[in-house]
Amino acid sequence: MAKAPVATLETICKSVLSYFPDANIELLKKAFHFADKAHSGQMRSSGDPYIIHPTEVAQILADMRMDLSSICAAFLHDTVEDTAVKIEEIEKEFGKDVATLVEGVTKLSKMTFRTSEEKQAENFRKMIIAMAKDIRVIIVKLSDRLSNMRSLEFLPAHKQKTISQETLDIYAPLANRLGMSKMKVELEDLCLRFVHPDVYYKLAEIISTSKNEREKYIEDVTVLITEKLSEYDVKAQVIGRAKHFYSIYKKMERRQVDFNELHDIIAFRIIVDNITECYKALGVIHAAFRPVPGRFKDYIAMQKANHYQSLHTTVIGLGGERTEIQIRTQEMNMVAERGIAAHWKYKEGKFDTRSHESVEWVNRLLEWQKDLSDPNEFLETVKVDLFSEDVFVFTPSGEVKELPYGATPLDFAYAVHTDVGNRCVGAKVNGRIVPLKHRLKSGDSIEVITSPTQTPSKDWLKIVISSRAKAKIRAFIKTRERDVAQVQGKDILDRLLKEYEISWSKLEKTSQYDQLKRELKFNSLDELQVGLGYGRVTVDQIISKVIPRDELDAKKAKMKTVENESFMKKAIKSATKKSEARNAIIVEGVDDVLVRYARCCNPIPGESITGFITRGRGVTIHQANCARALDTDNERRIQVSWNKALTMPVRRNIRIRVLSNDEPGLLALMSQSITSVGVNISSANIRTTKDKKAFAIFEVEVGNMDQLAKVISALESKKGVISVERS
Ligand code: MN
Repeated sequence: MAKAPVATLETICKSVLSYFPDANIELLKKAFHFADKAHSGQMRSSGDPYIIHPTEVAQILADMRMDLSSICAAFLHDTVEDTAVKIEEIEKEFGKDVATLVEGVTKLSKMTFRTSEEKQAENFRKMIIAMAKDIRVIIVKLSDRLSNMRSLEFLPAHKQKTISQETLDIYAPLANRLGMSKMKVELEDLCLRFVHPDVYYKLAEIISTSKNEREKYIEDVTVLITEKLSEYDVKAQVIGRAKHFYSIYKKMERRQVDFNELHDIIAFRIIVDNITECYKALGVIHAAFRPVPGRFKDYIAMQKANHYQSLHTTVIGLGGERTEIQIRTQEMNMVAERGIAAHWKYKEGKFDTRSHESVEWVNRLLEWQKDLSDPNEFLETVKVDLFSEDVFVFTPSGEVKELPYGATPLDFAYAVHTDVGNRCVGAKVNGRIVPLKHRLKSGDSIEVITSPTQTPSKDWLKIVISSRAKAKIRAFIKTRERDVAQVQGKDILDRLLKEYEISWSKLEKTSQYDQLKRELKFNSLDELQVGLGYGRVTVDQIISKVIPRDELDAKKAKMKTVENESFMKKAIKSATKKSEARNAIIVEGVDDVLVRYARCCNPIPGESITGFITRGRGVTIHQANCARALDTDNERRIQVSWNKALTMPVRRNIRIRVLSNDEPGLLALMSQSITSVGVNISSANIRTTKDKKAFAIFEVEVGNMDQLAKVISALESKKGVISVERS
């Protein structure tokens, strides 16, 4: 990492005058000399005179084009704490604005997030309050932290680690939340060096040894992109550079990969004049190089909560395997790098942050901390928010609720109360009625509409985002199904007991009963009833355990009725013959049962499977990891397996989706490649798109996973085929 050039009073004055020609430079000089005098004789851990530190902080702020008060405050920020200077003196010499900032930063400096949990939480709360008073306090504080991180190497090792960790936990995410990406990036890279030195130095080594190769690559690609753009009259500045170390490290950690190839760590940025040119540039790039599906993000139309705007895409074919490209205007670039600091209007000479989301965010946190009396709870919740882009919405009484990004009124209703969620029929957002799947935005005010007759349905699981709402809906559905099953089960059991003249209270005391419990896997009468209701336990199973064989035969002869036959058996007998899956699947403990494949996951032989029983409808076979299976009561689960002894081969109809270039004769070629691996095609459908692509859907008959894999690879190997997937 390049060392920052040495900051002096002169370099700072020069920077400030460049963006604020009318600035009161005399005040700036006065602040410097005042601080220089106050700190005279003090040294930094590096052995340098102390004044170097406040000067560096002032330079960081000047580089962000901050206002004069903030830069004066930077010079003075350590005087009150570390020297004999009193805050009153600062106010007298530099005015109230500067004094308030210095006071705010001084208070923050006393806080440490390295102490006990309790104190950490309390300090965080104080920091939010200080931020809400004047957001510049935190900008000066972040600059102070950056300066300290730059000279961290002079501190003892244990301090390096804890200070770095604190920076990663609190200050870097805060900088990110305020949109100050340049600050965030430098803080994170400095931290990596102390928190994971092995990774840091390895990356530094890779970057430095491949310097020539990398520069050549960057130059080639820059020229290529510039040429392509100029063909379409797009004037642009193209910048290529290595991504920051910490982001490479996070990526490696996320993907569990080792040090990546060189090309993957270089990203390009295209800076153009206006928004129209952004989209034009994107069009040119996508036409010239193949975009990676799913990697395009339009943060211009949908800006991030911290006001970040840019187009993101990843393309293939720029010399490397994948290249990330960001496209934005000069203005967007400035906001992206400086974030909230870009909101200082030097013409009016003041800081205008009224419209900035970050300020609203801080204010909301402030409101919120009043509700959360436990500081730890507050810290935990705020931390979650620091790391994810959550939305904050209000109840009619003004209470703030935090929900994950993309949350709907239904998530909100469950956040209010489980009963409110269960009875939710709709909502008013900012006074307007919206459907249940409406996406909430930060700042929305929500009123839930409930109905006493409403109950949750399985479809709701597709609407909600929050894990709390999901868990509550699942629990409700399972309970309801279970209740219905138990009523049915009780009915079956009561009839059984009556017909065979069995007393339950007597039976309960026998050793047979204990055996029954073990074999049929239930612990209570309730559970037995549920099992009977679902069909997992059959009447036959009970009878054969509790009534001796001879007695049973006598009884049967006497009754001359088939009423004692298992309900399920009866219900399914007629259907059994139709069951295509009947012989392919073995259901544990139950013979002669209707088996069908779940349409959601359509399993084929070789895949691991699980079964769910429904009384009267038999067993449904899902893939073991099917999401639907998750929503089903475990009581209904039944052990199933593929019948390996089957003589007749299984034939399963599977749909395969193929995306390809629209070339003549391709359908014939694809069909041929399917039949060439010995698989029948039941149906084929093809449609073409405007951009000369073709979507084909084949329904094929496969017997097992191997066969399916053969079909897929045969299709993939055809020229012109882009993707093949099972649908
Ligand atoms: Mn300091």
